[in-house]
Amino acid sequence: MKKALLLLFASIIATTSLYSQDSVYARQIIKALSSSDMYGRGASYHGDSIAASFLANEMKRLGVLPLQIDYFQHYTYNCYSLEGPMSLKINGTELEPYTQYRIYSPARQATPSKLDKAPWKKQLKDGTWLIAVIQLDTYSPWAVNTDRPDPVCIEVLETALPKKVKKVEADIPIHYRPNYLSRNVVGYIPGIIDTMIVFTAHYDHCGTMGDAIIFPGAHDNASGTAAVMDIARIASQKQPYYTIVFMLFSGEELGLKGSKYAAENPLIDFNKVKLLCNIDMFCGGDEGLMVFNANSEKTKPYFEQLTNLNEEYHAALTLRPRDNAPNSDHYWFSNYCPSLFILTMGQPYGGYHDPYDTCEGCGLKHYNNFLSLILRLTNIIP
Ligand SMILES: [Zn+2]
Repeated sequence: MKKALLLLFASIIATTSLYSQDSVYARQIIKALSSSDMYGRGASYHGDSIAASFLANEMKRLGVLPLQIDYFQHYTYNCYSLEGPMSLKINGTELEPYTQYRIYSPARQATPSKLDKAPWKKQLKDGTWLIAVIQLDTYSPWAVNTDRPDPVCIEVLETALPKKVKKVEADIPIHYRPNYLSRNVVGYIPGIIDTMIVFTAHYDHCGTMGDAIIFPGAHDNASGTAAVMDIARIASQKQPYYTIVFMLFSGEELGLKGSKYAAENPLIDFNKVKLLCNIDMFCGGDEGLMVFNANSEKTKPYFEQLTNLNEEYHAALTLRPRDNAPNSDHYWFSNYCPSLFILTMGQPYGGYHDPYDTCEGCGLKHYNNFLSLILRLTNIIP
C-alpha cells in the first residue's frame, strides 16, 4: 500500500514537471486541434471550419469579446480537397499513400518543373500525371487560381514502381472548391488604454490526403494557436493595461490567405497597434527561439527588450534575430505596425507537414518559459 502511494506520488510529480500547470491548457488546445475530428484543419470535410467554431467558442468561454458580431471574419478562396477513399494500383498491387506516393500540383513547381525533370512519367486518361521520383516531396496544399486547374500529379517513389508499368488504376478523390468560404477568428480584451497589442497565429493546416492520411499539424500550428489562446486565458483574468487583440487565421498553408485578407480589410486601426506578435510552430525549442523581422527600425527596440528579458530569466538557450520574410502571417502587417514572428528552434516535435506531427510528439518543456517572455514583453505580466 505504502509503495503504491509512493509510486502514485512520483507519477504525479513526473506529470506536473513535464506539463506544469500553465501548459495544461495549451496541451488541451493542441490535442483538440490536432485530433482526427478536425480532419487536418483544411478544406476536407470543412475541417478548418470545425476548428474555427471550436476556437470561437473557446474565446467566448474565456470572456474574449468578438471583433465582429460573431468572432468571424469571412472571406473566400479557390482550393480543393482530397477527401474520400484514395487508391493507386500498379499492375494490380495497391501502393501505400504518403510513404509510397503523394499528390501535388505540377503548377507549384519551379521551371524546369518536376514533371519536366521526371525520369519516368505517364499521363492517364483523365489528364492526371504519374511521375517517378527518387525522394517524395514534403506535402503542402496549393491554392487553385484558375477555373480549369492544372491536372493533378501523383509522384511515386521509384523503388515502389515495378520494372514494367503495365496497368495503372488511380482513384484520386480531388474535389475543387471554387469560392470556398473560410473564416479568420477574431476577438479582443479591452485594456485600460486603447493602444493595442495584437497576437496572431494560423489555425489551419494541410487537411487530408484521401481518408487514410490526416495531417494533424500539432507543431504547425496548433501549438501557436494554443499559445495565443493561452495568452487570452491569462489576459482575461485581470484587465490588461493595453487592449489585447487576437487574430487566428485560416488559409496560411495555401499562401498566407487569411492574414492577407485581414491586413487588407482591417478590423482595427493599425496606427494604434504598439506591437503585433505572430506565433507559428511553438513545440520543442531545445535550441531556443528565432525571431523574424527583428532588425527593422520599428521592431529592433522590441527585440532588444526581448534579449534583455531573456538574459534576466534564461528562458531560451538562444534568441536568433532574422530579417523580415514572407514566411508567416506577420508579413502583411509589417508595413502597418511593428510585427514580429516568433518560432521555436530545435526538438522535440513530431514532424513537419506529415502524419507524424502529432500532439504526443509536441514537447512543451520550454513552453512556460517562452510564453512568460512574450507576456513580459507585452506587459501582460510584470
Ligand atoms: Zn505549414
